[in-house]
Amino acid sequence: MAKQCKYVYSFGGGRSEGTAAMKALLGGKGANLAEMCSLGLPVPPGFTITTEVCDLYYKLGRKYPVGLDRQIDDAIKKVEKVTGKTFGKGSNPLLVSVRSGAAVSMPGMMDTVLNLGLNDQTLQAMIALTGNERFVWDSYRRFMQMFGDVVLGIEHHDFEHALANVKAKRGVKLDTELCVDGLKEVVEAYKGVYRQNSKTFPQDPRQQLQASINAVFGSWNNDRAIKYRQINDIRGLLGTAVNVQTMVFGNMGNDSATGVAFTRDPSTGSNRYFYGEYLINAQGEDVVAGIRTPQEITRLGSLEWAKNNGIAEDVRVSKYPSLEETLPKCFRELDKIRKILEHYYKDMQDLEFTIEQGKLYMLQTRNGKRTAAAAVQIAVDLVKEKLITEKEAVCRIEPKALDQLLHPVFDVTSEKSAKQITKGLPASPGAATGQVYFSAAEAEKQAAAGKKVVLVRLETSPEDIGGMNVSEGILTGRGGMTSHAAVVARGMGRCCVAGCEGMVIDYAAGQFTAGGCTVREGDWISINGSTGAVYAGKVDTVAPQLSGPFGTIMKLSDKYRKLGIRTNADTPRDTAVAVKFGAEGIGLCRTEHMFFDGDRIISMRKMILAEDAAGRKEALTELLPLQKSDFTAMFKELQGRPAIIRFLDPPLHEFVPHDVAGQQEMADAMGISLEKVKEKVASLHEFNPMLGLRGCRLGITFPEITEMQARAVIEAAYEVPGSKPEIMIPLVGNVKELENQKKLILAVYEEIKTQMKRPLKDLKIGTMIEVPRGAITADEIAQQAEFFSFGTNDLTQMGCGFSRDDAASFLKQYVEMGIYEYDPFVTLDRDGVGKLVKTAVILGRSTRPNIKLGICGEHGGDPKSIEFCHMVGLNYVSCSPYRVPIARLAAAQAAIRYEHGCAIMCNCESHAKAAKKAAAKKPAKKIAKKPTAKKAVAKKAVAKKTVAGKKTARKAAPKKVVKKTVKKNKK
Ligand code: PEP
Ligand code: MG
Repeated sequence: MAKQCKYVYSFGGGRSEGTAAMKALLGGKGANLAEMCSLGLPVPPGFTITTEVCDLYYKLGRKYPVGLDRQIDDAIKKVEKVTGKTFGKGSNPLLVSVRSGAAVSMPGMMDTVLNLGLNDQTLQAMIALTGNERFVWDSYRRFMQMFGDVVLGIEHHDFEHALANVKAKRGVKLDTELCVDGLKEVVEAYKGVYRQNSKTFPQDPRQQLQASINAVFGSWNNDRAIKYRQINDIRGLLGTAVNVQTMVFGNMGNDSATGVAFTRDPSTGSNRYFYGEYLINAQGEDVVAGIRTPQEITRLGSLEWAKNNGIAEDVRVSKYPSLEETLPKCFRELDKIRKILEHYYKDMQDLEFTIEQGKLYMLQTRNGKRTAAAAVQIAVDLVKEKLITEKEAVCRIEPKALDQLLHPVFDVTSEKSAKQITKGLPASPGAATGQVYFSAAEAEKQAAAGKKVVLVRLETSPEDIGGMNVSEGILTGRGGMTSHAAVVARGMGRCCVAGCEGMVIDYAAGQFTAGGCTVREGDWISINGSTGAVYAGKVDTVAPQLSGPFGTIMKLSDKYRKLGIRTNADTPRDTAVAVKFGAEGIGLCRTEHMFFDGDRIISMRKMILAEDAAGRKEALTELLPLQKSDFTAMFKELQGRPAIIRFLDPPLHEFVPHDVAGQQEMADAMGISLEKVKEKVASLHEFNPMLGLRGCRLGITFPEITEMQARAVIEAAYEVPGSKPEIMIPLVGNVKELENQKKLILAVYEEIKTQMKRPLKDLKIGTMIEVPRGAITADEIAQQAEFFSFGTNDLTQMGCGFSRDDAASFLKQYVEMGIYEYDPFVTLDRDGVGKLVKTAVILGRSTRPNIKLGICGEHGGDPKSIEFCHMVGLNYVSCSPYRVPIARLAAAQAAIRYEHGCAIMCNCESHAKAAKKAAAKKPAKKIAKKPTAKKAVAKKAVAKKTVAGKKTARKAAPKKVVKKTVKKNKK
């Protein structure tokens, strides 16, 4: 008989069957529990049901693989043996928690059940064992509530209502004020809730366990978990694991506690003290639920918290003391574990712990979620502390998260004069100004209508994830630094102020009051996620600081990246911003953007209306000095850095008004009739303007446009010493188009050069590769072009046959259905458009080995696409100014990741050397047989998916190609 698969992994008593390396199979929580246990840390015994079971559960139509039940029973026996407890019976009953845990953490998105194993019998045994009747009844009512809500789908509200009734009847406010009889009454009332909902609370613990396992596996595909995975681009996981673990109780009295902690500050990355919160006599959910105010772990943290909240020292000591003060022995042990885990995992850890009657237990460790500022600070510090290498530090930061650091914070003066209405906890840094909405659904609706939204909630829950994602900032009335709002906002990079107790929300009236001020739905407020301040109205913002640890990470990125980084900029201002962010030149200046401003549009329209070349020339004469002055200003900003200037590209109808009022205005400005304007606009109509008279077709049919633009660029370059103009012709699909335009440009250049009596040595002429025909005839085009820039917006449009302007209507569905892995206009479609790019790279270099290759489509700022650009050996990527730092980091990560090969055509020296060596040893027949680069393409050294979802080359790139791409491609 075939050996049965292993579905269940046990841990406990200092031994575990799993390891930290088994995250894919055991989930992050399960793998780390196993590892902590092996490290000898105090972990309550338990077992993990693998993610593979989750996968099978869905594949088998919500059924389990044969043999699983027996493995679970065996694992329970092991736990019983280690703990000396028995599941569901006896004088020392085993109670367990059942928790989810995927390979990538998805906090709060899936289900958890605590105190499982309690029933009418075990309840009595627990009372006899602990002598703490109140605690046991409280645990029972919590379990009944959680089981009913999470496993059986009874409305949470029904239980809350029943609990509130008992509290009201007994005249108490807090749950903790209920006595044993009160809690017994709650349990009876809960049984009533089950009956009203026609559900049965199972007394058999094995049944309870099975139903809870079903619920956790079922929660893998609940709406909020699916949405969370979509938002965070979490893919390729088998599912969630289920962790069943012996319960330990933080609610057994004043020598018991529960808490969550971060080994470094998750907001700033600071390592000044141990950051965390705890509650005495509480269970885990109490800390995150925001019902009680959590207390700091360290005395130092507690003192700072009290200062920030205006709490006097005597009040702090009596009401909110730190763990260091209340349970010093446990604190010291926890602090020791903090160091062990950080050194072991070499990263900031997010810990969950429980203290049961003075004994510390570790319930979880994982790499902590952090803000981008903290990620950068921690990575830099860990290098200094010699825990990680520079390369590891570079790879630790999510490129897109840098965005958080690049966006504005409040202007100090404007913030000073703003009206502060209240203050909460600085839960996630940054500044946000927006209109107030009180529900996630409304926030989503208003954001979709183009509004800037601040979501205001008493507290957030996982259902709010969509609304949080579209909001500029989140403000909550309850909860601490580890509340749902705080954790999720930090993960999303959203500014968040949490636990703002001075704010009274009235959902029904659609308003909140704070500091004597009433803020209604739709009113503007501003929140400072770094200080916790909340202001009425709008507050001005300023650019962020780019020095300190951010600067260090950027320097390290520059050290390791091979790709150059340019920017797409059309104005001197954007150029200056991009240079400040580290751009090494302009990769795309869309000159048409210069024609829209002020009077320029009038001259442009005159040109369009002109009947003949003479008329057009006259209008263009008006545009020449304006365009020239723009170029001069940009060359000055660039201080000798190169600039690719792309000649006029869009269809002319984009320059004329399509509404009657606008057409009348144009007629008045031009001194012609409305009819004439209408006639012209109609004549510009095209059925497929994106495939019509645009790009180089404009310059070919109206050569005077190209001549004017060439003159403007060349004269400006002569005026600003050190300028490096690179003129780029758009939409070339046939080399003859480029020849035509080049001839015109060179004629203008010759004329100016003669006047200036010196050459413009850095002038270059190249083309965009954005038409599929251009890509597959790139060897011919390269004979005329000194550089190519891949216009992947149009290349995607024409390569996939998707209209840039219309594809949104179906692309989302395409991605959801898996037809395309990502929106191809956002992340380059490697298998299709990518092949066109790769083809053009090989062909282009086959006829002009030193041709400069870059990308200027939107993909130039997308980390996954940047990785591809590195892999195919481009020289640089170009992206919008605010994406420049992201591109620097993504380029470095790609270079590090593919340092030793695996690339489609890796441009790193070590890979090239290895390839060369391999080729020299065994002259591969296949490679030798490939006489032309074209054939090499056809043979496709195509990437194959590996388990980890990375791409690896099936074959080394052809020798000839590798040779050409090995040099450091930065420029
Ligand atoms: C492109 O097509 O990728 C490109 C950069 O040009 P544009 O977006 O201006 O068409
Ligand atoms: Mg284009």
